[in-house]
Amino acid sequence: MQKIVSKGAGPKIHQCQCPDCQQIGDHPNKVLHAQLNLFLSRLDEQQRRWCVALEARKLGHGGMKRLSQITGMDMNTIRRGRRELDQGLIERPVGRVRLAGGGRKPLAKNTRSRQAMVNLNEMSHQT
Ligand SMILES: [Zn+2]
Repeated sequence: MQKIVSKGAGPKIHQCQCPDCQQIGDHPNKVLHAQLNLFLSRLDEQQRRWCVALEARKLGHGGMKRLSQITGMDMNTIRRGRRELDQGLIERPVGRVRLAGGGRKPLAKNTRSRQAMVNLNEMSHQT
């Protein structure tokens, strides 16, 4: 029989700390906040930041503090997400392109030098 490993099943989901969710009994926000945290657990770091920043904006005044309670995200992180959204995410291009200075080098350059190395290898093996 196969053993079922229950350890580390999926990402950890934050438990909301807002007053609505702390109170005893049902509250419509309990489901909303739980599902928001569930949703956030499936996003990557920057997507989480933008999503929370957007939710905070919807609430208006005090929104960032409330979202920090709900999601456990740092206020500074939410603020950063909001700033990035305000700038149209121009520093966060779509697709594989990474921020300048980090990540991989331009693909064409890399491929060419790698191809040259492959050619050299093949030539030395043929003899
Ligand atoms: Zn809550």
